[in-house]
Amino acid sequence: MSDDRALDRVPPHSHCVVCGKAIPEGETFCSEKCRMKYEKMRKRQSMSMWIMVGILVAVGIYLTVKGA
Ligand SMILES: [Zn+2]
Repeated sequence: MSDDRALDRVPPHSHCVVCGKAIPEGETFCSEKCRMKYEKMRKRQSMSMWIMVGILVAVGIYLTVKGA
């Protein structure tokens, strides 16, 4: 790989967390569209996280009741 020198010349910047496009440093998204996409994705992720937590709690209660 000989990309290291080329990377040094690129000014500090970030990448859009959704599409990976180069954006000014400190920014998170390149556009409102990507921001909305990310919000949707995050909502879905937190939803599945709560389902997981619910299952774990249910299993925990089940094991506690069963063991008692
Ligand atoms: Zn983007």
